[in-house]
Amino acid sequence: MKNQPTEFSIRGIPSYIRREWKALLYRRSNVCALCDEYLDPQYTNQHPMQITLDHILPVKEGGRAILSNLQLAHFRCNTLRGSLSVKDARDMLTRRLGKG
Ligand SMILES: [Zn+2]
Repeated sequence: MKNQPTEFSIRGIPSYIRREWKALLYRRSNVCALCDEYLDPQYTNQHPMQITLDHILPVKEGGRAILSNLQLAHFRCNTLRGSLSVKDARDMLTRRLGKG
């Protein structure tokens, strides 16, 4: 199983969830929840395209680190999202990435 990504870092992922990140990937067919581009596990060390965990409802708004509140997004997209809602972040990224 050469292309099965198992050992790579997902920034900020709680250990009890780490083993379940694949479920998050499969939920969205391996694409970023914010920009819809492919998530490639080869990127690490805060590369803009590294896979990160994104809280759907931000932590500071009471969002919890549970699978139902987590999605995967590029480090770039997660950073650009900031405190925007998922919908607003998607709209912003669509414009910013010239896909709108
Ligand atoms: Zn993205």
